[in-house]
Amino acid sequence: MTYNILQIANAMGVRLPGRSVRPIDTLLTDSRSLSCAETTLFFALHTDSNDGHKYIRDLYNKGVRAFAVDYWNPEWRDMEADFLVTPDGTLKALQKLAGFHRHRDNKKKTLAITGSRGKTTLKEWLFEMTGDDMTVIRSPRSYNSQIGVPLSLWLTDDSTDLAVIEAGISKPGEMSALTDMIDPDIAVLTNILDDHADSFISTETKCREKAILMRNVGTAIFCADNQMINKIVRENLHDADAALAWSLTGREDAELNFSADTDANGHTQLTISDLQRRKATAKLPLNDPHSLENACHAAAVLAALGYSADSIAKKLSLLRPVNTRTDVLEGIKGSLIIRDHYISDIDTLIPAIDFMERRLSENSKSTLIIDSLCESDPDYSRLAQILVNRHIDALIIVGAVNESIPASLSNSVEEFKSYDNALTLANDISAYKINVDERTILIKGDNPELDRVAEALQARRHETVLEVNLDNLVENYNFYRRKLINESTGIVCMVKASGYGAGSYEPARTLQSQGAAYLAVAVLDEGVDLRKAGITMPIMVLNPRVVNYDQLFAYSLEPEIFSFEELEAIVSNARRLGISHYPVHIKLDTGMHRLGFIGEEIPRLIGLLEAQKCVEPVSVFSHLAAADDPAMDDYTLEQFEKFDKWSAMLREKWPAMKRHILNSTGITRFPDKQYEMVRLGICLYGIATMNDHSQEGLRPVSALRTSIIALRDWPAGTTIGYNRKGVCKSNSRIATIPIGYADGINRHLGNGGMQVGINGHRCPTIGNICMDACMIDVTGCGDDVHVGDSVEIFGYDIPVSELSDTLGTIPYEILTSVSTRVKRVYFRE
Ligand SMILES: *Cc1c(COP(=O)(O)O)cnc(C)c1O
Repeated sequence: MTYNILQIANAMGVRLPGRSVRPIDTLLTDSRSLSCAETTLFFALHTDSNDGHKYIRDLYNKGVRAFAVDYWNPEWRDMEADFLVTPDGTLKALQKLAGFHRHRDNKKKTLAITGSRGKTTLKEWLFEMTGDDMTVIRSPRSYNSQIGVPLSLWLTDDSTDLAVIEAGISKPGEMSALTDMIDPDIAVLTNILDDHADSFISTETKCREKAILMRNVGTAIFCADNQMINKIVRENLHDADAALAWSLTGREDAELNFSADTDANGHTQLTISDLQRRKATAKLPLNDPHSLENACHAAAVLAALGYSADSIAKKLSLLRPVNTRTDVLEGIKGSLIIRDHYISDIDTLIPAIDFMERRLSENSKSTLIIDSLCESDPDYSRLAQILVNRHIDALIIVGAVNESIPASLSNSVEEFKSYDNALTLANDISAYKINVDERTILIKGDNPELDRVAEALQARRHETVLEVNLDNLVENYNFYRRKLINESTGIVCMVKASGYGAGSYEPARTLQSQGAAYLAVAVLDEGVDLRKAGITMPIMVLNPRVVNYDQLFAYSLEPEIFSFEELEAIVSNARRLGISHYPVHIKLDTGMHRLGFIGEEIPRLIGLLEAQKCVEPVSVFSHLAAADDPAMDDYTLEQFEKFDKWSAMLREKWPAMKRHILNSTGITRFPDKQYEMVRLGICLYGIATMNDHSQEGLRPVSALRTSIIALRDWPAGTTIGYNRKGVCKSNSRIATIPIGYADGINRHLGNGGMQVGINGHRCPTIGNICMDACMIDVTGCGDDVHVGDSVEIFGYDIPVSELSDTLGTIPYEILTSVSTRVKRVYFRE
């Protein structure tokens, strides 16, 4: 949709100086996603982690000429662009504009989905089920509805029949703004979970907030079997006739009565009815209760849209599970593979390309492997435009009809290939017929055959992986952001020891985009690797040791200074290279007695620092020796006292110097000592260090997994493994898993020393741990165990602390002992 800037200014209630009629068709909120600069309006948003106003100059240099801002900054005076200074902030203005656009014509219907679970699946299913009959727009993947909903509404135009919008909220008060914008014709409340995952005081409050979406709707869809939802939604409806609730238990007040049965093969048979009370039965291809609930909601929506029971049943029997997972994998020949399982169409391709671009290093080329677009009439010219704008180097399209591919698409990239099916492509990759050297390769689409392509590209097919959940890393980071008393306190994220074993690059990338203040690495090489991989945020090096100073400066790595010798070395090297005001961090030894300056050295330190211009102290810090031990709090308080006194001496000369002393445990135990920065380590990776509930809500990040490669039954008395240390006490079933002490499994964990998780059962080791394998007694699983089944060593079912307790050590050592030969696999949902 195109408007001119004056229409937009009017819609947002902003006065536009001058008489610009600049056409605008794209709204941008994330500067990294820029594609067509001339017709883009950039909204400089303030989010928890970032401030869009910082990117205005850069975007101007890239050709953007229209900006919505919170305030006018005279530094922008030289720019020949339209600035819309919004009276109530840019987010409100964006929402106002979306509301205006939504109400511009009344032909299209809007359908909003809220609830705790199933929103995305339901949205995708409705898109699939109605897409053949009408023009449907749906919200792309989005993490923040307050921004995502207006951008989704903007995607609608004159040809849109139905807009399917996910309206997720995480805080009280958010739903009202969404409701005003979407003004839904149909709204669905999927369910309300009592999960405390957000900031609502009670489940009922959460339900009431979500029910706001249904205030004025034409049709409100919900499950009448949920008593709380049934009651609250009906009380809140403006018009009682708007309710269209379904029930699987024959409730009398339900408008739609459905029933579900399981047939002899274990398949669910769902009988649904339409508005005329005609009935039809569908065999659901999915069997779990969540899918059944989603299917009932979908059936009710189709009924509301006027579909007959027969056609609803036909569509239900074609449903597939929706996979929104994205994996990042190491590929052959130095390539990086991003496997996005989410459906392939142009709207969901854009966020996937954003995700890939953040992982592109400077000289690496990009390849897009995409399943034929799932739209019935794919807009290849729009795809071509995106490929050109986003500088994609190669395109491989799978399963598209060749005649329908226009030359504009094949010419939009350096290399173009088209394949009938994914398996031929996988074979060509295995035969090295496809150029993948150092490429970043995005594989997009829900066709399961694309997994074979990803497999063919994968470096080593190890059965043992350390699986790293980047979503949970973000959750944990935000958990600590909420624990900060002062919003401006910065978080230094510790990625030393290769991110506590989780690998440093992907976590660093993720934390950089979350707006963390600093990364901290232990040694220079870790920092250099991060810079080479494209990490641009500030990095401090905690333990520079013998340092290659040229590299330190060249890669902008900020050292900690803990002794006079070190200060002298860095100053003389900076002088040699003509460097001045290089940022350094002063370490004080307040009680750890490892590294750092002590009180009586500070006057001399100040003197030396003042006598030179090569380095500049930007922060002063210290480390607690016993932050997690309440019995030693007296000692900790003495450390704080020294820190306050000594840092004040330095700050008298350098008042802007930031102070930091708290590690993860300290942040919650001593909140009044958060100062200007805190250093978040082990808890970022989801490991709790206290048993006092203060860290409840942390989520596991790393899971060490392998799978069963052999399985056999042995009679009582059989011995297992080296030196016959394992003995089957009764007739036993023994599994072999390919992980041993060379992977980091301590030999003390053999002979029953640890239990692993298999299909929800806990099973002990039997016999000694071997170098590359160990044996597990899976007798307790009965028949619920097979070759190929996944085995968890630690992560979700087996906490890391269980292993560290057994070994008399701490979780830190378990995490950092997983050997580098174990492949790290990253994913986000
Ligand atoms: C490792 C480290 C931290 C983080 O400690 P956690 O207990 O993992 O939170 C903080 N500061 C310094 C100096 C460290 O070396």
